[in-house]
Amino acid sequence: EMMTKESIKKRVVDEQVEFIRVTFTDVFGTIKNVEVPASQLDRVLNNDLMFDGSSIEGFVRINESDMYLYPDLSTFMIFPWATDEHGGKVARLIADVYNADRTPFEGDPRIALKEAVKKAEDRGFTEFNVGTEPEFFLFKLDEQGKPTMELNDHGSYFDLAPLDRGEDVRREIVLTLEKMGFEVEAAHHEVAAGQHEVDFKYADALDAADKIQTFKLVVKTIARKNGYYATFMPKPVAGINGSGMHVNMSLFDQTGNAFAGDEKNQMALSDTALHFLGGLLKHAPAITAIANPTVNSYKRLTPGFEAPVYVAWSTSNRSPMVRVPVARGLATRLELRTVDPTTNPYTCLAAILSAGLDGMDQGLEPSASVDKNIYLMDENERKKAGIRDLPDTLLDALEELEQDPVIIDAIGTHITDKFIEAKKIEYTSYRQYVSKWEVDNYFMNY
Ligand code: GLN
Ligand code: MG
Ligand code: MG
Ligand code: MG
Repeated sequence: EMMTKESIKKRVVDEQVEFIRVTFTDVFGTIKNVEVPASQLDRVLNNDLMFDGSSIEGFVRINESDMYLYPDLSTFMIFPWATDEHGGKVARLIADVYNADRTPFEGDPRIALKEAVKKAEDRGFTEFNVGTEPEFFLFKLDEQGKPTMELNDHGSYFDLAPLDRGEDVRREIVLTLEKMGFEVEAAHHEVAAGQHEVDFKYADALDAADKIQTFKLVVKTIARKNGYYATFMPKPVAGINGSGMHVNMSLFDQTGNAFAGDEKNQMALSDTALHFLGGLLKHAPAITAIANPTVNSYKRLTPGFEAPVYVAWSTSNRSPMVRVPVARGLATRLELRTVDPTTNPYTCLAAILSAGLDGMDQGLEPSASVDKNIYLMDENERKKAGIRDLPDTLLDALEELEQDPVIIDAIGTHITDKFIEAKKIEYTSYRQYVSKWEVDNYFMNY
């Protein structure tokens, strides 16, 4: 139903909501929130809730720190779990961040995504539909409730209990999500021990990004309730698959799915889809910085673990960066397989969409599809087929981002600058760390 100020006020009274959490996402993808008692609801709904932006990493300097939160009424939801001591209900609203002078804040990732969506709308598209497949690991908690490195089970892809011991947690996650308005399509054990996946129905980009943020919160909350710690870290355990977050996407216009093509066209994809794909391939290196923003992300993007390593696309095999799933007609879509769940979903989708739109503006053609196993091709064969490597460190990816004006424009210079600055510090800190691998391999040999 359409949410209005009045309908929200009514629900808060009817359901005896005691607190309202107003959330937003920082440049690095972390959810932040301010909680106010229900008595302050008017102030929230009138866009008068203020916070100190200088305390949020990547936002603003001290001398310009007053910022406003403008809640998006359609995101109102009451958490299905009680969070205060006497069991009172807590509701949330997702907000956009505004400056003290009440203009939209250019450092707000949600606003960046809205702007990318607007560019698509200006070109006649009604929706950028996005379906994600977030994967995560469950680790056991110890008696003090601290996370251990012990996986919750030894199951594998599509296993059943007793090998899969995540069944009950996953079901509770699914039921909770459904109470929160998600349409969950599937939940299953993933390939690695302790690894799980829950898929929910595609949505328009902004809604999809909001949902990813909510999803992570639900998974972590329900896991803890069940004695587990859920992590979306891409590669928590070396030697087994990591966690990705495949992004399935399509553009719709008045007439339906604009990616669906004629039989006679390449792979029955429309020119729109092929140009979008051309843009994705072109901007893939810079997108990687945003889609895979941690040092650990690059430990997942290695051969042998079902994660992509090369800039290529295919309809048949699953090793490339972009796959075109067999579904056609309304379900025609591109699946980008690089993305991992540490990405900021707002900037990530803004970057992906802008890359695709650039592909259309420039009439870019995708390279030929690669229908054999790229991992069995040597460097020469790959070169001949025009297959580039994805950046293999965070630093490489950041350097690609610095050189890609389309992706910088997609997320804006404020976010780009703050992001690159912080991520270079993160990379340097990692470089200075001496790992167990180095000690194991060098200490006795030199
Ligand atoms: N876990 C794999 C990855 O890192 C994906 C596995 C799958 O969903 N087929 O992307
Ligand atoms: Mg899947
Ligand atoms: Mg999966
Ligand atoms: Mg997939």
